[in-house]
Amino acid sequence: MSQMVFHLDNLQLSQRSGGSRLRQCPGTATVGLLVQKFGGTSVADSNKILAAARRAIRAHQAGEKVVVVVSARGHTTDELIDLAKEISDPPPARELDMLISTGEQVSVALMAMAVQALGVPAISFTGAQIGLVTDSFHTRARIREIATDRIRQALDSGQIVIVAGFQGIDANANITTLGRGGSDTTAVALAAVLQADACEIFTDVDGVYTTDPRVVPEARKLDRISYDEMLELASLGAGVMHSRSIEFAKKYGVPIHVRSSFSDSNGTWIVGADDARHAGSVTGCALVKDEARITVLGVPDRPGVVHELFRRIAQAKIVVDMIVQNVAFQGQTEVSFTVSAEDLPNALEVAQIAAQAIGAAGIDHDAHVSKVSIVGQGMRVHTGVAFSLFKALGEAGINIDMITTSEIKISVLVAKAAGVPALRIAHKSFGLEQPCTDPTHAHFKPRRLASPARGLVSSDEEAMTSPGMEDLVITDVELDMTQSRVTVQNLPNTPGQSAHVFELIANAGVFVDMIVQNTGRGTHTNLSFTVPRTEAEQAAAAVRQAVPQGQVVVDSDLAKLSVTGVGMRTHTGVATRMFGALADRNINIAMISTSEVRLNVITPHGAGQAGIACLRQAFHLPEPDSSTSRSAT
Ligand code: ADP
Ligand code: ASP
Ligand code: MG
Repeated sequence: MSQMVFHLDNLQLSQRSGGSRLRQCPGTATVGLLVQKFGGTSVADSNKILAAARRAIRAHQAGEKVVVVVSARGHTTDELIDLAKEISDPPPARELDMLISTGEQVSVALMAMAVQALGVPAISFTGAQIGLVTDSFHTRARIREIATDRIRQALDSGQIVIVAGFQGIDANANITTLGRGGSDTTAVALAAVLQADACEIFTDVDGVYTTDPRVVPEARKLDRISYDEMLELASLGAGVMHSRSIEFAKKYGVPIHVRSSFSDSNGTWIVGADDARHAGSVTGCALVKDEARITVLGVPDRPGVVHELFRRIAQAKIVVDMIVQNVAFQGQTEVSFTVSAEDLPNALEVAQIAAQAIGAAGIDHDAHVSKVSIVGQGMRVHTGVAFSLFKALGEAGINIDMITTSEIKISVLVAKAAGVPALRIAHKSFGLEQPCTDPTHAHFKPRRLASPARGLVSSDEEAMTSPGMEDLVITDVELDMTQSRVTVQNLPNTPGQSAHVFELIANAGVFVDMIVQNTGRGTHTNLSFTVPRTEAEQAAAAVRQAVPQGQVVVDSDLAKLSVTGVGMRTHTGVATRMFGALADRNINIAMISTSEVRLNVITPHGAGQAGIACLRQAFHLPEPDSSTSRSAT
């Protein structure tokens, strides 16, 4: 198979006929180009449109070249969707895109009129007019390329350029849209191809808060947040940014400034990790209110089974969120995953058939769960974060149904009624309501990262023949042979139990890596976590104080394999590809955890080397560099 490599180190993408994507080096970037995006509330009426126009003009008069991206006014998109449903439910996707793209077209025309009325030349464009080409997945299309010629000509002639957000055309000139909230993605993608100095997101809040200020009024504004943290938060429920826009920002090193349309105050910078350091371990938290959990019971513990399950689910185009598989007993394991509540009927149907096909005992589900997550780069180096969260929830009598973690986040599944209270408790337990404004923030100058996405390799099947800007990129695969797993069997399924376990671990000073708790059937649940091998017995001894003797098992026969990249969750195929590659080599998967930037699995220790080799092959990554694998000492 031919291999398509993106050499982004000089921001040079492979050349394609007709496209003009990212061909200049960062050193040649135009100085003084700004992309400003105005959301729906910011252009809701003529006064607001005029106010937005004045803001663009101010930047123009300060010598910037200005590209403005606008959303549909107010609730236009919702109203158009409702109207379509009155006629046909579900509406045909192509025609729905034709309809809802009109909202943005109205806004660009009005915005261009406003700028002109204020005495500055301006021109409006639809997505098609600027050559924003997407794939053909109506209502959730991905950007493949953006031609910059027409925008550049207009900018060079002194005009402010106004572009419709959220829309594009496919290769057959059908109008497509990028998914709800997609104007953010248009704006950041334009900032990437035009090599803008920054992308300003003007909205109805004055920045990114520690959590949604409408749900938790004591939330506070963050000065800065890293791409990875924002990616996690956005995909874990923080609706302030479209998560795909952050994928672009990270991939192409675009600094984003989220700020208020209605004031001049400094907002929040979304930047690289080095620029976004925080003192605390937790930066923010988020809630997804309407999730549903499906558990496949009595799954035979043998290679290929998990792959078969998720292959069928991906084939049905169902986006899976959390995946949790815990330790097998007597040759059987349980695999739980969550989907959005609206996907549940579909997902149940597919899971039912898949369960039969893999010889599982059956399925169980809960249609009313919420997911609460805490996110922070500081978690990489802090111990006891999990304990603090579980303790606070336990003390409030909130039961944890499922747990999954990554390097920078912990997510728990709780009953839907407990979702908002759990979010408030999580927020409070990490002191996120306390002000901690950095006095130097007003002078903060973001750096446009020169080569953020070095040596990326496309791993999307389709991208092998035709790479697009928004394709999945896999940056690394890693093997870690230094961990052991501790499993607590038959932990009572009542509030506070996990807290008790992690209190003992934290007191013992042991650093916990992955944590997986699968939903309990009835009164008991199983909790597993990995720790450095040298500390496993110490951790187990500490936990034995919490649960009756004999229920804590240490397993050192394991290796952790990780795949890291950008777009891991929004591209449904990545888990399938990883599980498939391991299944082909007959490698059994003993534990799984997922995040926005990483997918981790635990396999038998002896399979580690073969596992990493086959993953490298599956994701078209070059041969190792010794730094990517850690061996047991
Ligand atoms: P726009 O129409 O400008 O794109 P959105 O409604 O998409 O605006 O996003 C802004 C909203 O995001 C805010 O009004 C706020 O309620 C919500 N939100 C959710 N999480 C956060 C957060 N962590 N910080 C700030 N706002 C948030
Ligand atoms: N108008 C679209 C929506 O409401 C896109 C956007 O606002 O970003 O989802
Ligand atoms: Mg939005």
